[in-house]
Amino acid sequence: ESVVNRIAAGEVIQRPVSAVKELVENSLDASSTSISVLVKDGGLKLIQVSDDGHGIRHEDLPILCERHTTSKLSKYEDLQSIKSMGFRGEALASMTYVGHVTVTTITKGQLHGYRVSYRDGVMEHEPKACAAVKGTQIMVENLFYNMIARRKTLQNSADDYTKIVDLLSRFAIHHIDVSFSCRKHGAARADVHSVATASRLDAIRSVYGLLVARNLIKIEASDDDPSSSVFKMDGFISNANYVAKKTTMVLFINDRLVECTALKRALEVVYAATLPKASKPFVYMSIILPPEHVDVNVHPTKREVSLLNQEVIIEKIQTVVESMLRDSNK
Ligand code: ADP
Ligand code: MG
Repeated sequence: ESVVNRIAAGEVIQRPVSAVKELVENSLDASSTSISVLVKDGGLKLIQVSDDGHGIRHEDLPILCERHTTSKLSKYEDLQSIKSMGFRGEALASMTYVGHVTVTTITKGQLHGYRVSYRDGVMEHEPKACAAVKGTQIMVENLFYNMIARRKTLQNSADDYTKIVDLLSRFAIHHIDVSFSCRKHGAARADVHSVATASRLDAIRSVYGLLVARNLIKIEASDDDPSSSVFKMDGFISNANYVAKKTTMVLFINDRLVECTALKRALEVVYAATLPKASKPFVYMSIILPPEHVDVNVHPTKREVSLLNQEVIIEKIQTVVESMLRDSNK
């Protein structure tokens, strides 16, 4: 059974960056206002995510890393919204099958926190009382220690830290009321360091730099009929002066970081047609749709989504982007 679990877990957690994404999303779900990530050896030696969120209750610790623990999901009424929010209840469990997970956490009003380590879905010992300030710290050590081939491939590629920095950058420009930092173990400086702000443009400037931030156009769109408002979009897109060889597309749908290749391609087409001399675009976009219109489960490990009425939505966004680009280029 343990081999089957390990293989399944290796599908959910494919690389160090997949673990970081799940951990940071959990921290965001816990209403954190500050999230710090520390990475050693591209995440293979250590991934540590610390937050100041609401913490994990002592009585939940024994079941924390069990797969599909239904009690964890009791606060979500219907399966549809669970599915669309990506709640699968298997991220932490998976990490315990392919790495060593240690959780330190304290809930509000407690005098001390608890620390406990997990392996293969179960606690290795009773939670131990320990000093803790606020929130939760989760360490994942020796990721893929029991998957030799995977470890070898990742060691050779060595670009997972870059992927982690890219991921945190994306979170930081969407969740602008949360402070993020991402640091390599032993490094004096953080590679992502964003402080909570009220201005999206300030966040983009601090994460992606002035050259990006000063070449952006604000965009907005919503349903024509406000009474049946099922669609809202807002964001920033690059103008004619922006220079890049590759498209950067930061897409959040219903506050979840996702990929939508069809939308990305459609926007590249608009840029090529409207600003033929311009470079590939930078796009940050946040879209709000009824949860039942979003299908995130095209593939459990990919973040590719498909949308109900996808063509209609993409066309609408294309039209808005095109007219903003034309206006800005007059
Ligand atoms: P899911 O997020 O799909 O429920 P996970 O395995 O990612 O499943 O997390 C399991 C549960 O552990 C979460 O539902 C949450 O209750 C709790 N949890 C995990 N990380 C944190 C955290 N940083 N702060 C508070 N609770 C957490
Ligand atoms: Mg989760």
